Amino acid sequence: MKKFYITTPIYYVNSYPHIGHSYTTLACDIVSRYKKSRGVPVHFLTGTDEHGINIEKAAQAAGVSPKEWADKVAAAYKDLWKNLNIEYDDFIRTTDRRHEGTVQAVFEILLAKGDIYLGHYSGMYCNSCETYMDETEAPGFVCPIHKKPLNEVKEETYFFKLSKYQDALLKFYENNPDFLSPSFRGTEISNFVKSGLKDLSVTRTKVAWGIPVLSNPAHTVYVWFDALINYVSAAGLGAKICKDKAFFEMENKKAGVKNFEDVWPADVHLIGKEIYRFHAVIWPAMLMALGVPLPKKVFAHGWWTVEGEKMSKTLGNIVDPKKVADEYGLDPLRFFLFREVPFGADGDFSMDAFIRRYNADLANDLGNLLSRTLNMAAKYGDLPAGDYKCELLEKAYKLDKEIERHMDALALDKALEAVWSLIGNMNRYIDDKKPWALAKTDEAAAKTVITDLIYTLRRVTDWVTPFMPATGAEMKKRLSPGPVQKYAPLFPRLEIKK
Ligand SMILES: [Zn+2]
Repeated sequence: MKKFYITTPIYYVNSYPHIGHSYTTLACDIVSRYKKSRGVPVHFLTGTDEHGINIEKAAQAAGVSPKEWADKVAAAYKDLWKNLNIEYDDFIRTTDRRHEGTVQAVFEILLAKGDIYLGHYSGMYCNSCETYMDETEAPGFVCPIHKKPLNEVKEETYFFKLSKYQDALLKFYENNPDFLSPSFRGTEISNFVKSGLKDLSVTRTKVAWGIPVLSNPAHTVYVWFDALINYVSAAGLGAKICKDKAFFEMENKKAGVKNFEDVWPADVHLIGKEIYRFHAVIWPAMLMALGVPLPKKVFAHGWWTVEGEKMSKTLGNIVDPKKVADEYGLDPLRFFLFREVPFGADGDFSMDAFIRRYNADLANDLGNLLSRTLNMAAKYGDLPAGDYKCELLEKAYKLDKEIERHMDALALDKALEAVWSLIGNMNRYIDDKKPWALAKTDEAAAKTVITDLIYTLRRVTDWVTPFMPATGAEMKKRLSPGPVQKYAPLFPRLEIKK
């Protein structure tokens, strides 16, 4: 059976991870956990991008070899994912032999097909982006992202015939309207392709820290061309196209991949908007050239600002997700990031907003609902087991479909909104029915109200769990059939610090 294949970008190891990286990976984790909870087999890939001139420079500055540097930063990513309770299925590094071998084989296939050819390139280049830019992309030849002047570079290089795929790409976007997501970002991509695609320089002669071209080792593969291939090298393409089949089959086995076709095509590549063009234009063209099916969706989310400012080292306002999680709990952070801002749009991280959300949605709405329900239930003996029907639960079953729709569309904020609207209704249900007063005249009716709440809260637990796994596990424990225990509040209220 084809697995649901979801990927993060592979993160560039030139520096350590921050909240931006965590956001993409958390989103993948949430979607992956949700799918798995529905019985869908999932393959969730993340990893690190480790070649290129910036890694050489970072390593040099640290006085270590590029590989030693990459090992250190890749380990930091793995640590962070563990701390953020992220359960990926595979972690690929572009220095893995399974990846390097696949890149080399892909390159030779495209070279033999004529989709890669040797030529010369001269142009203006941003060393930090590792990309050439023209004046429309970089006004005044200053990189718009790094605010640094571009350098003039002339070199012998291999080109990928991107221009050949212009019409095919436009046709593909048209026939697959879900491919470019969210749709408001898609328009920009189609317009970019319509404006004309140029062939892409895909090797460097000046960069030693890269994957050598097999048939011409004076060239190393351009880091972006190298990096994009991770999605298929991790999915097991090597076993199909590389000579040393046995090695790649063994690697696939380690990664939990039986056949390439069980994983590929990717169901969603989740990325930040700054790398949308690479994923929505170059990557599908590379796959067309290779004759491999295209991913179903490339979804670009927005950027986070902090207290209204762009995150930057100079401003010193980079949010360390681990610090926030250590101070306020990991689950509230996971919740906040996806409840506060429509997934796909830009968002602002502020401590005030975080604490407001925490107190309103978690301490008041969810936490209170659970504790008042369990406190009332304690009077009626054990929590019930077995099947049960009630109106409240019927509503929850209907909501389940709506949530599934939102999750499939990656509208994570809408899924949470739907869950919290039910939580609000449940709190109002308690206020209306007043079981504590009802018990004085009709004890059976009061007990029914509480049973309704217990069963519906169990449904709520299922929806909450992918977003807040530890909270979900705790709710499940507290709500499981048997005697009610005494519990501390799920989310103690936070005070706003000055
Ligand atoms: Zn740049």
